[in-house]
Amino acid sequence: MQFTELGLAEPILKALSAKQYAVPTPIQQKAIPVLLEGRDLCGIAQTGTGKTAAFALPSLDHFARNPKQTPLNGCRMLVLSPTRELAAQIAQSFRDYGRFLKLSVEVVFGGVPINRQIKALSRGVDIVVATPGRLLDLMEQRAFTIKDTEIFVLDEADQMMDMGFIHPLRRIAKLLPKERQNLFFSATMPKEIEALAAQFLNDPVKVSVAPQSTTAERVRQQATFVNQAEKQALLTLTVKNEPIDRALIFTRTKHGADRVVRFLEGAGIQAVAIHGNKSQAQRTTALQAFRHGHVKLLVATDIAARGIDVSGVSHVINFELPNVPEQYVHRIGRTARAGAEGIAISFVADDERPYLKAIERTAKVKLEIVPLPDNFMEAVRNLPKAAPPRKGKPQTSEQQARRADGQRRYQDQQQRGTPDRAHRPDGEAAPAKKKPFRRRRSGVGAHKGAVQRTGQR
Ligand code: AMP
Repeated sequence: MQFTELGLAEPILKALSAKQYAVPTPIQQKAIPVLLEGRDLCGIAQTGTGKTAAFALPSLDHFARNPKQTPLNGCRMLVLSPTRELAAQIAQSFRDYGRFLKLSVEVVFGGVPINRQIKALSRGVDIVVATPGRLLDLMEQRAFTIKDTEIFVLDEADQMMDMGFIHPLRRIAKLLPKERQNLFFSATMPKEIEALAAQFLNDPVKVSVAPQSTTAERVRQQATFVNQAEKQALLTLTVKNEPIDRALIFTRTKHGADRVVRFLEGAGIQAVAIHGNKSQAQRTTALQAFRHGHVKLLVATDIAARGIDVSGVSHVINFELPNVPEQYVHRIGRTARAGAEGIAISFVADDERPYLKAIERTAKVKLEIVPLPDNFMEAVRNLPKAAPPRKGKPQTSEQQARRADGQRRYQDQQQRGTPDRAHRPDGEAAPAKKKPFRRRRSGVGAHKGAVQRTGQR
């Protein structure tokens, strides 16, 4: 089947041909015809299957054939995404596929000044891609309404649930108009997700593609048993020995991600981290550096990396195994995209062996066990220390971006006159805003035990 057989409007076909997409992926073949009929859809598909185009193309077709004034302070289409990165990526896809249509696309997420978003939305927008927290903020401030939404998409529903977005989603559901088309996508469909889907969908067509194990089939999956304390040495060796184009390294915790970066830097290997304690500017800078190939190693937590579509990821390294087996499948799905082959290497400490078993059972694979390299003990002995935190050094571009982000947030707060909502589950938890009271024990200008510093300086 070719895209030309689906009956999509000419400007969309032109954009597809500019991207050299001729053949729809399985989810696109199944979803586009039913969506063009205006039906609701419940899709089980993960990123990498082409699901963004599956919902973007028929929606753009609807707008091409039904041009309308955009509603004041509102939108014609609302797409909800769990993370900021995925939201930005989806908005970019709409811009790409809709480049020959005169449509406005805005992306709305937390961690950046709200005022610019309020201004951009005030004229009304065709397509808004948003994370739930910031969307609710905007609606609470009466800066935006979703009452005119014609098409509603909830993407990565299972991830939304994992991130605790259930209550924001329920509130959003109440504010949508009754008459609308609904699209619901999730990589997995356990009972609670089915219940959530039922709240949004009206007699949906169900489509499911690529059972989770098939993505894994194109990925060479290896595991090495190693002590937790020696993983850093193994990582340094692996990064030096493997023919890596781009590697995504997963840790379970945010601090773990930072520590891995510092150790790599200590060994003279450049890497950047992306996780929920980073500011939006840092996350964007890190992702751009990785995407453009300036940095070959991106160290990430699951939530930050979910849905990220970067081509040319040759390796996924599980520095720590996830304790949820499905997460393993999501992780290794970052490599072997668009028909390419990829390698997934897992470092398994003793206490992670049960996770390995669960993964093999769920993904229906047997990981190839690779022994520690010959020179491993020597590498452990010679392991360089972690690079110190960057205080005092000249500022890197990442630090400059963080500072700029802080300044923007400050200005934004001043303009709004309200504190930033650190508690919103927007993307991941926002960076902590206040430092605890700290007592200066000594030093120039400090009265011992008498001076307290508060807040951010
Ligand atoms: P997604 O699952 O939406 O994240 O898409 C995964 C990747 O596949 C993205 O880089 C898309 O641009 C790309 N893609 C989507 N549809 C097609 C297609 N029909 N042919 C080739 N690549 C595609």
